Amino acid sequence: MTAFAYREGSLFCDEVDLVSVAAEVGTPYFVYSGRLLIETFVQFRRALKPLPGIICYALKANGNLALLKILVSLGCGADVVSGGELYRALKAGFPPSHIVFAGVGKTEEEIRWAIDADIRQLNVESVPELELVNSTAQKLQRQARVALRLNPDVRADTHPYVATGRGDSKFGLDLAEAVSAYQRASTLPGIQVTGLHFHLGSQILSTAPYVEALKKIIPLMEELRRKGIMIRDLDIGGGLGISYNKEVAPSPEQWLAVVKDELQRLDYSVIIEPGRALMGPAGALVTRVLYLKKASTKNFIVVDAGMNDLVRPSLYGAMHQILPLREKTAPSIVADVVGPVCETADFLARDREMVRPAAGDMLAVMKTGAYSASMSSNYNGRPRAAEVLVFGHRYAVIRKRESFEDMMANELIPGLALEARLDSKKNG
Ligand SMILES: *Cc1c(COP(=O)(O)O)cnc(C)c1O
Repeated sequence: MTAFAYREGSLFCDEVDLVSVAAEVGTPYFVYSGRLLIETFVQFRRALKPLPGIICYALKANGNLALLKILVSLGCGADVVSGGELYRALKAGFPPSHIVFAGVGKTEEEIRWAIDADIRQLNVESVPELELVNSTAQKLQRQARVALRLNPDVRADTHPYVATGRGDSKFGLDLAEAVSAYQRASTLPGIQVTGLHFHLGSQILSTAPYVEALKKIIPLMEELRRKGIMIRDLDIGGGLGISYNKEVAPSPEQWLAVVKDELQRLDYSVIIEPGRALMGPAGALVTRVLYLKKASTKNFIVVDAGMNDLVRPSLYGAMHQILPLREKTAPSIVADVVGPVCETADFLARDREMVRPAAGDMLAVMKTGAYSASMSSNYNGRPRAAEVLVFGHRYAVIRKRESFEDMMANELIPGLALEARLDSKKNG
C-alpha cells in the first residue's frame, strides 16, 4: 500500500502532482494521503477482529487536527502523553471513553484534567503516581480508572532512544513490583483498576518481543484474577515498525495474530496504540534544492528543509528515502543532503547515491507522516512548514506555514529587560 507513485515522470500523492502543490504553498511542506491513512486504519481494525478492543492512535506521532478528525470519524481512539495532547484529543472529538493517558511525569493538574474528562484510563507508571491519582480522584469525589504500565524487561531490537521496555528504562513498573502495586491499587478508594499496559518501544520489526512480553504478562494477569483483581483491558502499546528502506516490517495482521495466539480464549479486551505504523507511510516532506556544493571529500545537496523540520536523521540516524519530484536522466552522485541549519548534525541523508539534482529541483523525503512535523521546531528562526492533506485529486492546507510574527507571538519585552541598558551605562 502506498500513496506516492510516479505518473509520467512526476511524483504524485494519490491524484495530486506534488510540484503543483509547491507552486501554491511553497516549500518545504508536508503532504499526507487521507486515503492511505484511512486504509491503514481499516487494516488495523480488521486485524484486531475478532478480539474485542479499541485502537488508540498515539497522538505524539502526528497530532494535526485535520488528521485526527479523520481518525475520529473512523471510530479510532487516542493515546495521549500530556495535558496538551489530552486537550488536543478532546478538541478533535475523540470520545473520552476512547482516550488513554500514559507518561512517567504526569503532573497533578494533568491527572485532574484526565479524571475530569472521564477518560477511559490513566496508564500509571509508578507507585507514587498511583498515590497521587488516588488523592486527586478523592478530592474530586471520583474514581479514576487506572491501568498500571509494566516494564516486561524484554529487548526489542530497535534504536536505544526508542526502546522503552528494557529493565533499565524509565518507563513503567518492574514486573517484580506488579502484584503488590496492583494489590495496593485495589485498596485505594480513588482508584478503579481496569487495565494492564505495556509499551515496548518504537520501530520494532519483529513480533518476537511481543510474544516474550505476553508470555510474562498473561500469567500475571491470571494470577491477579485469582487474587480477585479483575483486569478488563490489556493494552499492548504501539511500536510496530515500518519499512523506511529495505527493512521488512510485520503487518498489522501478523502483529495481532501473535496477540490472538497468546490470549487464546481469555476474555480480555485489547487496546493497541499504533503511531508510526498508522501515520508514517501516509506522509512525505517536499523540499527544494538550493545549491549543489562540493567540498574536498564530499558532495552536498543543500535543501530548504532542515533538522528543525525533520530531526529523525540527526537524532536517531534514521534513513528516509529521498525521491525527485520530476524523474530525470542524469548521472548519479553520492552526496549528503543537508539543510540550512547551523549544525553539522543538520542532514536529511548521508552518503546517499541519487540522480544528481539541479538547483531548483524538488525532492520528497518519504515516510515522514510520523515523528516529523510533530517533532519540528523553530530552531534557527525557521518557521514550521506548511502541512497539506490530499484526498483523491483534491488537496487542502491543514496547517499554515508559520509566519515570522507567529514565531514571536508569545515573547514579551518587560521594563526589566530595558534596565540592562541603564546598568551597562552605570558600569561605564
Ligand atoms: C509513542 C508511544 C506509542 C506509539 O508508538 P509507535 O512506535 O509510534 O507505534 C504508543 N504508546 C505509548 C505509551 C507511547 O509512548
